[in-house]
Amino acid sequence: MTKDLSQQTLTATALGWIDKDTDAMAAPLRPSTSFLRDPKDLARTGRLFTRDDNPTFDQPEALINALEGGAGCLLFASGMAAITSVFHRLKPGDHVILPRLVYSGLRDWINEHGQTWGLEVSFLDHYDGPAVTAAMIPGKTKLVWMETPSNPTWQITDIAEIAAAAHEGGALLAIDSTVSTPILTQPIKHGADIVIHSCSKYMNGHGDLIAGAAVVAPGREEVLAEMAALRNAYGAVLGSFEAWLLLRGMRTLSLRVKSASASALRIAEFLAGQPQVAEVLYPGLESHPNHDIAKKQMTGGFGAMLSFRLVGGELAAKEVADRVQVIRQAISFGSTETVIEHRAGMESAASPTPRDLLRLSVGLEDVTDLITDLQQALDSIGAAK
Ligand SMILES: *Cc1c(COP(=O)(O)O)cnc(C)c1O
Repeated sequence: MTKDLSQQTLTATALGWIDKDTDAMAAPLRPSTSFLRDPKDLARTGRLFTRDDNPTFDQPEALINALEGGAGCLLFASGMAAITSVFHRLKPGDHVILPRLVYSGLRDWINEHGQTWGLEVSFLDHYDGPAVTAAMIPGKTKLVWMETPSNPTWQITDIAEIAAAAHEGGALLAIDSTVSTPILTQPIKHGADIVIHSCSKYMNGHGDLIAGAAVVAPGREEVLAEMAALRNAYGAVLGSFEAWLLLRGMRTLSLRVKSASASALRIAEFLAGQPQVAEVLYPGLESHPNHDIAKKQMTGGFGAMLSFRLVGGELAAKEVADRVQVIRQAISFGSTETVIEHRAGMESAASPTPRDLLRLSVGLEDVTDLITDLQQALDSIGAAK
């Protein structure tokens, strides 16, 4: 039955599970670390210890898996824990391919730890099927990574094209789909093998928890089993309270993502008409270089993240971030409130992010309040404060 239901229904009902013990409609929180063993058969394969698994994970994992059309899902202590578990499956000497413009936490982890671990890495400036094919090292490339829309310039990459290039060369395709969420894009349908989310963003959606998730495509169940073993071995397990809170947040995922995406499009159109703005980076605009790919693989909206570059350069960008009043200047995204960030200032010195760029995470406020706020901040550039 759940196969035919819309994502809005799946999320609002959290798959319709009822607690068997109490008939409770809301999922119970089960913090137990240990589970009774069968005295007759100590080796049985039931639950044992919460670093392996906890019953509070079951429903959020099943819901994320259903939304993605996967063969299984695992929750992790953070998005980074989910990401690194994908790389920890690899062996020293294995080769991986990534876009240079990728979530900066991953780029930094690869440069500081992934290379020490012995991974061979190709960061590509231009990311499409032919570029990935050209970078493949036969017999050595085990993983191709992608992120779409990608931080912080919101370039769109064609998932089906990258998947074909990866599979042709015998590698798996993993995608960080944090920004799209399964509401806007379901990468497994387009050929991805592993889908990663930082649930600290839209999945939870209330800016009050750190969590991650990994979903595998049908046929890749062995990958999930390896990642489950790594989650246990490295201890990157989510707390049961966080798993419970995540499910609570996900009940509104579909509504939140669609509403924030609609507001982001309005704001992108507004910003594109302002003389102080040099460029608006948003895949929903027809002027965006990858708008056609976005239309092909995103449904229900183009996401709630956008960036814009200021005619007045870095100084003007910092001024605008400082002068907004409803919008707050803060890191992270995907919560109910809109935040703005001078991204280059937050990333490491080697970051390729343009210094005149502001990143906006559009939230759930009335969009006219947000536009009025941005208008007064833009109009105040250069004026005494
Ligand atoms: C935040 C983020 C991560 C890391 O997730 P955490 O939950 O903070 O560890 C990974 N990828 C993207 C795109 C993110 O925005």
